Order: sequence, then C-alpha cells, then structure tokens
Amino acid sequence: MSMDRRAFLVGGTGALAAGVLSACARPAPTAVTAPTSSPNGTERTRTPPGPEPSPTPLTAPTSPAPPLPTTKGAIPVGKAITKIPIPGPYMAWTIDDGTDPTVVAAYAQMAEQTGNRLTFFLNGNQPAWTMHAQRLRPMVQSGQIQIGNHTWSHPDLRSLSAQGVQDQLQRNEDFIQSTYGVSSKPFYRPPFGAINASVRSAAAAIGFTAPTLWYGSLSDSSVLTPDQVSAFADQWFGAGRIVIGHANHPGVIGAMQHLVDLVVQRGLRTVTLRDVFAT
Ligand SMILES: [Zn+2]
Repeated sequence: MSMDRRAFLVGGTGALAAGVLSACARPAPTAVTAPTSSPNGTERTRTPPGPEPSPTPLTAPTSPAPPLPTTKGAIPVGKAITKIPIPGPYMAWTIDDGTDPTVVAAYAQMAEQTGNRLTFFLNGNQPAWTMHAQRLRPMVQSGQIQIGNHTWSHPDLRSLSAQGVQDQLQRNEDFIQSTYGVSSKPFYRPPFGAINASVRSAAAAIGFTAPTLWYGSLSDSSVLTPDQVSAFADQWFGAGRIVIGHANHPGVIGAMQHLVDLVVQRGLRTVTLRDVFAT
C-alpha cells in the first residue's frame, strides 16, 4: 500500500472497504511524457510515439442494452460521489489517466463497437488525449463519452495551495474545452482519490462541485494480466457502481471482451455521470 493510499484511507473514506480503493494508488508513470530539455533548458520536445498495434475487434452485444434512465439524482453536498444516485441497472464505467495511448485506443474501439457509455477522467498532459481526440470527439459530442477532469498532471491536490489546485483543474479544463469542445465541470476526480476540505473548497470556487470517487476498481493502475483485470471486473461490475479503471497498462486490452460480455451477462446499462446526475 502506498503512502498516498494510506493517507486517503485514513483521511475520511473509512466507510469504503479498503479493497475498493486500490486504484490511483501511485502517480501515473511519467516516462511517456517526460519532456526532454535541450541543453539550454528552454526547448521541450517529446519522443514521437511508435506505430500502434490495433486491438483485436470485439464481438459486440447482439441484443439492445437496457434503456437509459429517465430521471437523475442530485450531486451530494459536502461529500464526494461514490455511487449512482438512482435505482436501476446502471453502472458508471470510468477510466483515468491515459499514460498508454494503445489503451485509450482500445477503449475508443470498444465504445465504437459496443455503444457502452464511458467517462474518461483524463490528464491533459498525456499525449494520448491529443492523439486520439479526432476519434473520440464524435462520441464526446453525442454524450456517449463524458470527459471528466483528473487535473492536468496528476499531483496530490492536498499538497497544493488553493491557487495550485485551481491551476491544475483550470489548465485541464482549458485543454478539454479546446480539444473536445465540452466542459468537464462540475465533475473532477482528485488524483489518488486524495481530497480534503481545502481541496473541495478551492475546486468548488471555480465550478468543480462534484468530486467523484468510486466503489469498485479494476486495480489496473498497476501492471496486471488480462485474467487479473477480468477477475476484478467479476468482483466489482454491478448495478449502482462507479467502477474505476486506468488507460495506463495493456492488461485491460486482453480483458476487454470479457468486460463487455460481463456488462451484458449482468444486465447492466453503462452510463456516464451526466446520464445520472442532474447538473
Ligand atoms: Zn489517476
């Protein structure tokens, strides 16, 4: 268990089972995006990404998914979102970070082929979100994919001043607006799930009034095999859940067909947060 996670558990989420919170347990790897400074330190470049392997096409569900909800619930006041606010077969499938562009592409393909509704809590400093913006944008515009704010570069917000918290959220919001043509407000997910009253207050002052945690994790902020990812999905995919995964490591690509099938087998309807929360 990392210090971040420990601090999070001690810091006010004791009501949630420890196993639930095994995501975002360490900083997103920086190797993908670490800028290389030129000798004079003023120029920054990135190593261009290599060619991407195409994920294996998925077998899409043959029967229609249960309908979307016709009512919405209220965003809770004074505490973070951890569950769907209305009854029904609804599950919010949320994906964070984006350090591996091939995983972002695999989720995009899955969404295209199955119609599943997803919420990406992205870090704008990850090149994947620019590389795949053209592909994702139509699904963002239609509402199938929601873009939530996970800060620009994934710091522990508790370590920042109020201004620092706002700078992280606003820089990412500006990126999301310019790249996807939508606002992420009011939803944000604090990196590592690390939040306190100071962070909530600073975020709310610029319109981020819906800190969003989770109840159920694919635990793939660490490197897992496809079978391990599948087993966490077996454990956590369910009605009323907000489940967190990560677009950081390729294990989930090999598990994607199982995850898609699980949604169907369990009679779930994937939803975005905007589908179920009144904003
Ligand atoms: Zn994260």
